[in-house]
Amino acid sequence: MTVEISNEKCGHIANCPVDGLCIQICEQKALVEKDNDVEIVNENCNDCGLCISNCPNQAITQV
Ligand code: SF4
Ligand code: SF4
Repeated sequence: MTVEISNEKCGHIANCPVDGLCIQICEQKALVEKDNDVEIVNENCNDCGLCISNCPNQAITQV
C-alpha cells in the first residue's frame, strides 16, 4: 500500500502552508523532495498515516 497526493490540493512545496511538513515527518523516507514537488517512494511507505493526518490541505490519501 502507499499514498497518493492530489496535485489540485497540494500544489508545490513552495505553496505548502507548512513548508513540506509531510516530507519531514515521514520516518520511512517514502516522501522525498524532487523539483520542488513531493515524490512518493511507494516501496518505502508502511501506511503509518502520519502524513495524511498532518497535511493541512488534506491532499494525501491512502490508496
Ligand atoms: S504537507 Fe500537504 S500541502 Fe504540504 S507538501 Fe505535503 S502534501 Fe503538499
Ligand atoms: S503513510 Fe507514513 S510511511 Fe507512508 S508516506 Fe505517509 S508518513 Fe510516510
